[in-house]
Amino acid sequence: MNEIISTKSLSKNYTGIKAVDTLDLGISEGEIFGFLGHNGAGKTTTISMLTTLLPPTSGSGMVAGFDIVKDPLNVRRRIGYLPENVQLYESMTGYENLKFFAHLSELKEPDLAIEQVVSFLDISSYIKKRVGQLSKGMRQRIGIAQAIIHEPKVLFLDEPSSGLDPMGMKQLRDILLKLNQEKGMTIFMNTHLLSEVTAVCHSIAVLNAGKLIYQNSLEETLKRFKDNSSLEQIYFSIETDHSEAAHAVSH
Ligand code: ATP
Repeated sequence: MNEIISTKSLSKNYTGIKAVDTLDLGISEGEIFGFLGHNGAGKTTTISMLTTLLPPTSGSGMVAGFDIVKDPLNVRRRIGYLPENVQLYESMTGYENLKFFAHLSELKEPDLAIEQVVSFLDISSYIKKRVGQLSKGMRQRIGIAQAIIHEPKVLFLDEPSSGLDPMGMKQLRDILLKLNQEKGMTIFMNTHLLSEVTAVCHSIAVLNAGKLIYQNSLEETLKRFKDNSSLEQIYFSIETDHSEAAHAVSH
């Protein structure tokens, strides 16, 4: 299958820190991809570069057929992004927020696009309430509506489960599966939550101190680590293998 996201030696240095270090990633079209790693591993920095919000220090990346450095506008037209803290205007209703973003996206038929996304995400019961009055889960669904209103090919989400209760997490999972199955959307998700990964992802990668230490399909991962009973144990095995290998090299 075609790779809809790919990076070659993608790197980002902050003063004194290699936040992302020569990253080579490949994600097939139509996949739900889970990007795992400890706090500070470099996941948000990677998403920021792929969504063209942050220029790489070196290396390159392609998203939906366009170069993230040379052609950021064409990348932006084809992607949606839900940051960890959903950015919405609190004093406006969900509907007004969507209308505003529909105009920013220069949609030809903004009202129709809003109607369709509201129906797809089943958010009509609270779309006319002010965002400041909504629960975290409701705001997040408005955030997803905003991120997908222009029908992007790829949806990026940064820690989407953070702060959600079990019902909110289930609703999020159902939305991601529906977007993937019914709209064929490729989904790139930064996450800490291994239960979420097992429930929705087709493939995973693990980042450790800016370096990619593992990438494989979820199916192969579960086969390869078949003695480990949970993905959590697998994750720790990958991290342990990596640090033992690094230790062996340095001696
Ligand atoms: P988390 O799960 O905690 O969000 P992460 O895997 O998303 O972590 P990043 O936020 O990408 O990690 O951070 C990677 C590294 O870069 C960390 O050491 C962080 O402190 C550093 N960093 C991130 N943003 C900046 C910045 N603007 N200036 C300097 N250092 C930064």
